[in-house]
Amino acid sequence: MEQLIASWSGEVVISAFDADSGAWIFIAIHDTTLGPAVGGCRIRVYPKPRDALLDAMRLAEGMTAKWACIGFPLGGGKSVLAIPGVPEAECRGRLLRRLGRIVASLRGLYACGPDLGTTPEDMAVIQEETEYVHGWDREHGKPVDPGPFTALGVFVGIRAAAQRVFGSSELAGRRVLVQGVGDVGVPLAGMLADAGAEVLLSDLIADRARSLGHELGASTVPAGAVYTTPCDVYAPCAVGATVNAEVVPSLQCRIVAGSANNQLDRPDDAEGLHARGILYAPDYVVNAGGAISLPMLREGRTVEAVRDRVARIGQTLGEIFDEAAAAGESPLLAADRRVRSVLEQARRSR
Ligand code: NAD
Repeated sequence: MEQLIASWSGEVVISAFDADSGAWIFIAIHDTTLGPAVGGCRIRVYPKPRDALLDAMRLAEGMTAKWACIGFPLGGGKSVLAIPGVPEAECRGRLLRRLGRIVASLRGLYACGPDLGTTPEDMAVIQEETEYVHGWDREHGKPVDPGPFTALGVFVGIRAAAQRVFGSSELAGRRVLVQGVGDVGVPLAGMLADAGAEVLLSDLIADRARSLGHELGASTVPAGAVYTTPCDVYAPCAVGATVNAEVVPSLQCRIVAGSANNQLDRPDDAEGLHARGILYAPDYVVNAGGAISLPMLREGRTVEAVRDRVARIGQTLGEIFDEAAAAGESPLLAADRRVRSVLEQARRSR
């Protein structure tokens, strides 16, 4: 772990061991040039504590890139609770409150929110200890669901990609394959169907895809056939690393744009897509809608204001696609460059 921390480009790592649950607690704060760090809290079983720390660091870096690329005044951070096994409810509550006290001690340098393995209800527990939490509406005592805002960002991202590839952002008649019919996939499929797209749905839990398919008049694709099904847009909204060296040569689409985090197995896969003439909407840009919604809603901004801000993801992606096309490179390289430039400019004007 010493080597990992010594070689990291981030600002701060906080670690603690919770003897009660046997969990390691890590908070990684990567870059606060643009503002205080905001990023979700992940709970998972990891092979070793080191793997959890590495995950926290990478996820925090991803949050820095996300906020910088979409021009939001926040920094990159993430917390990870590496549990030895699923804790029983009371133990989980104590662990979350312990995290809450650590977050409180940072006095706003880092605020957490829901992520893989945590729910808005968990955020309500953390909120007992600190105000620096997103995802739970304290005033009305109810969860805040970022899924529909993430879906809106993906929808406008798909339109921006269609504009670049087909010369029109019109989606009527375009075939869009949504992989993963969950919090994001369901509202996304609805928006696509409303826009007249031919929607194809796929989910490991085939019944989920089938029942939404009935509702929307969409067809379904078996989970194993997603990467070989002809479509205009492949929207990965399930898990990461579905775009990998094995899949890239077989994809039958013109655009990859979806909500899944870390869609690419390796950054090189962006080059593989580029070489095949498939336009890739960088995940950390196109899936930023939910992240944008949480701090804005916490500040009491209206849903309309949030939707307007999220819709600007389309414009940002359009700029990234134009830059990438002008340089003859993949949009991922253009997005990464944009992140570096935003951060350098902010550091210079400090
Ligand atoms: P979810 O858990 O609500 O839904 C995921 C769906 O994908 C489930 O129905 C699951 O059965 C299905 N699935 C899992 N593995 C699959 C596979 N291999 N093939 C097909 N289907 C599979 O998750 P979600 O909140 O909708 O998020 C979807 C993705 O988007 C995740 O990668 C998440 O990290 C990312 N993301 C979500 C948000 C958000 O606001 N919820 C924001 C940013 C990124």
